[in-house]
Amino acid sequence: MAQDYPRSYYAATRNTGPSFPRLEADLDVDVVIIGGGFTGVASAVELSERGLRVALLEAERIGWGATGRNGGQITGSLSGDAAMVKQFSRKLGRAAAEDFVWNLRWRGQEIIKGRVEKYGIACDLKHGHLHAAYKPSHVAELEATYKDILAHGMGGDVELVRGTALRDLVGTDVYCAGLHNRRNMHVHSLNLCLGEAEAAQRLGAQIFTDTKVLRIEDGPRPKVVTAHGSVRAAQVLLAGNGYHRLGQRKLGGLIFPATLGIVATAPLSEAQAKEILPTDIAVYDTRFVLDYYRLTADRRLLFGSGTNYTGGESKDIAAQIRPAIEKTFPQLKGIGIDYAWQGQDGITINRIPQLGRLASNVFYAQGYSGHGIATSHIVAEVMAKAMTGDTRDFDVFSSAWQWRLPVGRFLGNQMLALGMWYYQKLDAFR
Ligand SMILES: Cc1cc2nc3c(=O)[nH]c(=O)nc-3n(C[C@H](O)[C@H](O)[C@H](O)COP(=O)(O)OP(=O)(O)OC[C@H]3O[C@@H](n4cnc5c(N)ncnc54)[C@H](O)[C@@H]3O)c2cc1C
Repeated sequence: MAQDYPRSYYAATRNTGPSFPRLEADLDVDVVIIGGGFTGVASAVELSERGLRVALLEAERIGWGATGRNGGQITGSLSGDAAMVKQFSRKLGRAAAEDFVWNLRWRGQEIIKGRVEKYGIACDLKHGHLHAAYKPSHVAELEATYKDILAHGMGGDVELVRGTALRDLVGTDVYCAGLHNRRNMHVHSLNLCLGEAEAAQRLGAQIFTDTKVLRIEDGPRPKVVTAHGSVRAAQVLLAGNGYHRLGQRKLGGLIFPATLGIVATAPLSEAQAKEILPTDIAVYDTRFVLDYYRLTADRRLLFGSGTNYTGGESKDIAAQIRPAIEKTFPQLKGIGIDYAWQGQDGITINRIPQLGRLASNVFYAQGYSGHGIATSHIVAEVMAKAMTGDTRDFDVFSSAWQWRLPVGRFLGNQMLALGMWYYQKLDAFR
């Protein structure tokens, strides 16, 4: 029996759409996808649009993992941008690698916006984002990004704001500057994923939930086995990210699930909402372990803060996050918190998404280190191209050197937590 969605703002406000059955047959298709989060579902859309026969198998429900639990911020960061340029330079040369990463950074927004329009997905998609400097010493980083943005001709979409211009965007005194980006967006993440699943189904994809994949059997036509059925296909895409345990012989030690906590307050009054986020943008700050927040369509403050890199779950997320809310917005002191939940995302050591193969016809894509909404959609396009014969972008990603910790998941998570603790301490000095 599939697990229900965690009690979250997203689950409580999800759209009702088609229900997806459990797999109880033996199928034969072109591509079988394992995992029904953004990576799997967006890949199902891309592959179905290209005319392939697709089956998608999800252990629980569509968007049950990180996809249906996140902050909803669609930003032009792939998490490990600088590391990617360095790594991809080996294959492409420095200038081409810089161009490749820069263009990819904004591709996710285009794909999501286009898909929402094309398939009429109701998911509260809105433009506007602020990257806010938490300390005066962080402003130089924003200035450098802004310079880069201007050099790439994106000045019409982005501005560096301070003083009253900053205060007009966010009703707090905690920041000293910000990059206001109109191309970035925010979204009801679960409804976006459910809408994409419905679109894939309409395109002919067969989608199954409550269908956990137990093993992948290699071969010229690999077979994916579940408790009540199986799917044979020309190609397999493993898209289980922080929640799967398949292919560990090759994938063990590569990604580590970190736990992120997030809350939704009681609905704010119109005046409160106007005071804290007058133009309804999303915000995150410049710290390594950061706060990120936005308003929902029903005027709740959706606020995420902190990451537990040991992968362990917190007993009281609301109590953990409340001080960050009240520090940012003292005017909301004592605000009710209606929903508090947590989810796991796959963290990679160098923050570069991992795209590769377990066998010539078994692909995997995972590890977006907390920046997965845009990235998963970019990755889905890259994977669909690769699985239909154009492997150029996939080859660039898969050429990247990936750190592997030669220890089990538990120890690896402890090592990751120690590394992140070090960076958090560095935050105090930078
Ligand atoms: C609290 C939180 C806040 C976040 N905020 C943001 C944000 O604001 N912006 C942003 O860009 N990113 C954010 N992220 C990250 C983003 O949500 C993820 O990177 C992205 O959703 C990953 O999508 P995915 O499909 O790869 O993985 P998931 O959504 O985790 O999906 C994997 C799916 O695979 C299924 N699965 C696993 N094993 C099997 C199996 N054996 N058989 C069948 N199915 C299986 C799981 O049940 C799951 O549904 C956040 C993440 C969290 C947890």
